Amino acid sequence: MSAIHLKNLVKKFGDFTALKTMDLEIADGEFMALLGPSGCGKSTTMNMIAGMEEPTGGKILFGERDMAGVPMGRRGVGFVFQNYAIFTHMTVRQNLAYGPRMRGAGKAEIDRRVGAIAKMLQLSPLLDRKADRLSVNILQRVAIGRSAIMERAIFLLDEPLSNVDAAFRAVMRTELKQLQRQFKQTMVYVTHDQLEAMTMADRIAVMDHGVLQQVGTPLEVYNNPANVFVARFIGAPGMNLLKGRPAESDRGLVIDLGPLGVTPPLPEQLVPAVRAARGEVLYGFRPEQVTLAARGLSILVSFVERIGARTIVHLGEGESAVKAVFENDVGLSIGETAIVAPPASSVRVFDAASGLALRAGG
Ligand code: ATP
Repeated sequence: MSAIHLKNLVKKFGDFTALKTMDLEIADGEFMALLGPSGCGKSTTMNMIAGMEEPTGGKILFGERDMAGVPMGRRGVGFVFQNYAIFTHMTVRQNLAYGPRMRGAGKAEIDRRVGAIAKMLQLSPLLDRKADRLSVNILQRVAIGRSAIMERAIFLLDEPLSNVDAAFRAVMRTELKQLQRQFKQTMVYVTHDQLEAMTMADRIAVMDHGVLQQVGTPLEVYNNPANVFVARFIGAPGMNLLKGRPAESDRGLVIDLGPLGVTPPLPEQLVPAVRAARGEVLYGFRPEQVTLAARGLSILVSFVERIGARTIVHLGEGESAVKAVFENDVGLSIGETAIVAPPASSVRVFDAASGLALRAGG
C-alpha cells in the first residue's frame, strides 16, 4: 500500500517546465533520496507527492490508489520541512503529543509513544522544556519527532537538516536512518547534499533541470554513472573527465587524449561500445582511484590541498585538469610532474556529444 509510483509526472508553472515526465517507483519501506542541485525540481516533486501541488500531467499512485484529487490531509503522509514547524509556546512533550492527542489517543498510549520517540531522538531529558528556549538543532529534532510519532506509512522530508550545524547533521543522519528502519516507513528525502543521500538512502534519484538523470543504489550511481552530469555531481571531487578520441593501437583500443598522450588500453568490456562511438569521448575515472605509477598520464602538479591526512592533488589545467585524492601525503609539490594511472577496472567512457555512458549492453 505504501509503495509510491510517479507515473510520467509533469509539472509546469506557466511556460516553465519544473518537472519533465518523471517515472519513478519507490518500493514499500524504501528510503529514496531525491538528490540534485538547487532548482532541479526536487521540492516540486515532493510537494506533488504530499498533495500540496497538483501535477500538470501524469499520475501519483500510492500502492494501486490514484492520488488525483486526494487532499493532503487524506493521503496519510508525514511531512518535515527545512524550517521546523512546531509550537513554540508548548513544551517538547506537548509538541510530540499533539498529533496522537488530536487523533484521540488515550493518555497511556500517548505517554508510551512520546517516551519511545523521545528516547530514539535523544529528547528524553528535554521533554519538559519550553520549545522557545531550544536551539535550532533541537527544534528540528522535535519537528522530526512530531511527524514521526504519527507512524504514517509514508514519510516525506524536504531538506530537514539544511539549517542545523555540521556536527549535529552527522548525528541526525544516523538517527533518521534508524528511525526509518524501526518504523519501516517508505521515506522520500529531498536533499542537495550527496553525503546525506549516499549515507542514508537505499536508492538515490539524481535530478537536474527537471529531468530524472539516474536511479540507483548509492554505489551504483557512484561506480556506474549513467551520464556526465551524474559522474560530475556524485563524488567530492567529482569524476575526472578528459576529452579524446578512440584510437586503435597494437595493444588494443585506447583513447588519444591529445596533449596528454594516449591512455592505457581500455578494459575489454568497454571496447565494443567505445569502438561504435562516433566522434569525441570523455575518458572518466574517480579521483580516489588514481594511483601514481611508472607508466600512465604525465601531468604537471598545479596545486596540492591537504585536509588532515587526506591529500587532493590538482594536476594540469583547463580541459586537461585532473584531480587525484590520496589518503596520505604523497610528497608531490607544485611544478612537479606526476605520472597518474587509473586502474583499468575503474575507467568509464562517455559519449562527448550526448553525455551518455558508453558501456556493455548500451
Ligand atoms: P531548491 O533546493 O532550491 O528548493 P529544488 O530542486 O527543490 O531546489 P524546486 O523548488 O522544485 O527546486 O523548483 C524547481 C523550479 O521550479 C525552480 O526553477 C523554481 O524557480 C520553479 N518553481 C517552483 N515553484 C514555482 C512556482 N510556484 N511558480 C513558478 N516557478 C516555480
